Amino acid sequence: MSHHPKDILARIAVVGSINIDIAVRSARLPKPGETLHGDSFALSLGGKGANQAAASARLGADVTFVGRIGTDMFGDLARQELARFGLEPAFITSDPGAGTGIATIGIDAAGENAITIVSGANAHVSVADVHAAAYRLSGARALLLQCETPFAASIEAAGLVRASGGVVILDPAPAPREGIPKELLALVDLLTPNESEAMALTGITVNSRESGLAAARKLRETGARGVIIKLGAAGLIYATPEAAGFLPAFNVNAVDTVAAGDCFNAGLAVALGEGARISAALCFAAACGAVAVTRAGAADSAPTRPEAEALVSHGA
Ligand code: ADP
Repeated sequence: MSHHPKDILARIAVVGSINIDIAVRSARLPKPGETLHGDSFALSLGGKGANQAAASARLGADVTFVGRIGTDMFGDLARQELARFGLEPAFITSDPGAGTGIATIGIDAAGENAITIVSGANAHVSVADVHAAAYRLSGARALLLQCETPFAASIEAAGLVRASGGVVILDPAPAPREGIPKELLALVDLLTPNESEAMALTGITVNSRESGLAAARKLRETGARGVIIKLGAAGLIYATPEAAGFLPAFNVNAVDTVAAGDCFNAGLAVALGEGARISAALCFAAACGAVAVTRAGAADSAPTRPEAEALVSHGA
């Protein structure tokens, strides 16, 4: 995307979740009623909203992030972490009535995990929170949404960004059991499930390019203008009003796939926000996801702009 002037920052908006991830490593996961000695412990910023906002900021975007945290000690930690990524706190509300969202993550020696999420303040992200940022959302070139905060706020944000010509990208993660409201899908330019989310939403088993394209077509019929199904190391399937097809992944040495999808979505928003065509944006996004799997961490595994561009131009 070297034809885009680097001094014009893409203006991106994110409405979504903020968690503190509490990760414990042990040889194996404990059984019910059992107490084990673990090997290590780490606290880090997580939540799909925070991951996508942080990854967008690291790519150099001007990011408006709307979210909620508690007034507890994890809220303070979340604020510190958001600041470390250069995310401004103007639209992060401290909620006195709820704790900061958390995820407890148990990881065994084989890399298998068991995760419990408590939404806390994320469940209170509101239409009023979005309204407070309305003037920023109206100027955003792209909006990143996920499914860890209430749909009402997402619908409001999507309406504002769409009305001013911005691109709305919805990550249907985690796949909502009750489905995605039609009102929101009607405002979505790109719906970006991974293969298991695509299966949960369509009932189609995605295990080939053909089945992926069939699932993407079915999802387009629900209202989303375009669909991208992320297939990890197997690449991606896309179906937009302009074109449909398959894009292979970059060949990299994967060490940790956490937040690959979030870095992919950030790359997509930044590229489209700068006016790139969908084909170039998909390639840039795939490079962002690929860099993210080469190192450990969630938001911390996100690439810088030069790293993502180097992979796009030289491959791997
Ligand atoms: P999610 O994290 O939502 O499950 P994926 O694991 O499919 O999403 O990753 C998102 C994107 O990141 C993929 O479409 C691909 O472009 C890139 N990616 C993920 N895993 C790898 C990998 N092992 N090698 C190269 N690219 C990858």
